[in-house]
Amino acid sequence: MSGKLFVIGFGPGSFEHITQRAREAIEDSDVIIGYSTYVDLIRGLLTDQEIVSTGMTEEVSRAREAVRQAEAGKKVAVISSGDAGVYGMAGLVYEVLVEKGWTEKTGVPLEVIPGISAINSCGALLGAPIMHDACTISLSDHLTPWELIARRIEAAGMADFVIALYNPRSGRRTRQIVEAQRILLTYRSPDTPVGIVKSAYRSREHVVVTTLEQMLEHDIGMLTTVIIGNSSTFVYDGKMITPRGYQRKYTLSVDEQPLLPHQRLRVENEPWSLEAQGGSGQEPAGASIAQSVAVQERTQSPAAQPDSGTPQAAAIAVQSPPAPAHPQQSPLSWALEALAVLDGESEASSAAAARTVQSFTPELIFECSVSPGVANKKITPQQMMLLAEVTKDKGEIEYTPHHQLILRVPTAEPERITERLRAAGLMVSPIGDVVQIKACDFCDGEKKDSIPYAEQIQQKLAGRQSPKELKIGFNGCGMACYGAVREDIGIVFRKGKFDLFLGAKTVGRNAHSGIPVAEGIDAEEIVPLVERIVARYKQDAFPNERFHKFFQRVGEIEGYKWREPAKAEIETAACGD
Ligand code: SAH
Repeated sequence: MSGKLFVIGFGPGSFEHITQRAREAIEDSDVIIGYSTYVDLIRGLLTDQEIVSTGMTEEVSRAREAVRQAEAGKKVAVISSGDAGVYGMAGLVYEVLVEKGWTEKTGVPLEVIPGISAINSCGALLGAPIMHDACTISLSDHLTPWELIARRIEAAGMADFVIALYNPRSGRRTRQIVEAQRILLTYRSPDTPVGIVKSAYRSREHVVVTTLEQMLEHDIGMLTTVIIGNSSTFVYDGKMITPRGYQRKYTLSVDEQPLLPHQRLRVENEPWSLEAQGGSGQEPAGASIAQSVAVQERTQSPAAQPDSGTPQAAAIAVQSPPAPAHPQQSPLSWALEALAVLDGESEASSAAAARTVQSFTPELIFECSVSPGVANKKITPQQMMLLAEVTKDKGEIEYTPHHQLILRVPTAEPERITERLRAAGLMVSPIGDVVQIKACDFCDGEKKDSIPYAEQIQQKLAGRQSPKELKIGFNGCGMACYGAVREDIGIVFRKGKFDLFLGAKTVGRNAHSGIPVAEGIDAEEIVPLVERIVARYKQDAFPNERFHKFFQRVGEIEGYKWREPAKAEIETAACGD
């Protein structure tokens, strides 16, 4: 018996994207079985094969016919678009075979040939939207209860997966995509990039990059795949791009680093890792690799962090492999040690060899911000010289409008740098999506009454992870000359009490200052109040949602109501538009 079953995924629909093996199998077959549109797509490859083409809904009869003909001694190709194992024919063919008691040994030979699925072809046309953890969800509820599909959308939305929606809409199924958008908007910002690709690599190909909020304004049908970005997906030059990790550089995540690098990788210091939860007590071979992966996961997924405000959380974001847990025990050091023994070298020099291994530790760009203090704005020449020394030739120092110097230094030992800076009296803080305090100089220290409150806020909140960078402006008198009212949270000390401003928008044509929400707040109240405001923002904001947008969306924080700022009257330019 020479019968054989091929289950073939022929890719998105263009000849260049059909694999070599798929072509050979099609050429080799006596019979081609598939949905008529698909048979038409590969017709150019056919010679004298018999064609059994059926309608879309006749999948089961197609699978049965294929098995019957193969068992009768023919070579039969069952074709699916994309990959046959993704909402295609592969599963069905197996189901029919299983029913007949087929086994690989006794039954008709079967080969499943992989193809490029829509998630990959559409992803390529959009840019690089997949990149990170992604999933496919079919919105077709013909064979799957909607309740289950909705739960999956919910779970994927919550876990920040990039999502490829297959079968998003048909003539009759129009509500599913509306419902999917509604669910996703509860977890993701309305600005989240969304790609809509129709007929990828076919004659009527159409590609749109839009947002979660506006996606339904575009044509979505049976031949469309909709790709929803995750919280860090961005659009650049019309392309949708999801970064490989959530952070590319690393920074301090809290002001104080309680653990040294080698301590951080120990299981007891990673209570959230799989290793820690398994609790076998025995370190299996390759444990350090497992631990390194745990570090990457912990730093790349905000959701996986426990309370990122606690000192243990997210010590360092690592893009390339982190340093081995025990450098002296890495395979490379073993090899060097072995070489040293073979060479008859002394133990001392093999230890030296092991030490050189440490220099193989990948260097990453360490970023942090440096300032002379909360209230102090003066840097001494000695501090300047130290800054130059630690940055050396490969690093850089950036002066920002936020009273900070940002250091970027390639190093494998950030603690060395931060220790030296701190010893010289400099304040070192993490940067990125963290809380930052911008205080005035309190008239060179003359108006010093409110300095302790600024310092308390600095101590309690500065450097804590935040959905988006959050700036707290603190001014020591009613002049507010350092512009506290232009920050996300503005605090102004006046006549022994505090005024509070919330939700300034610092950029754009509709920039506005913070909404004055309260005056005369008792001095002892201000620190806990600001802590509660920041905690609410951390808890309820979408990833990447700016504070003013959040305040506007939720309408109220700590009893303070959002008020629409006055709109600027924009005059038409004299010379036209
Ligand atoms: N086996 C196929 C999927 C079949 S389900 C695969 O792996 O790609 C049918 C769905 O796939 C369509 O509703 C659409 O969402 C998606 N799809 C298949 N081919 C596509 C193409 N060329 N362009 C865009 N989407 C496509």
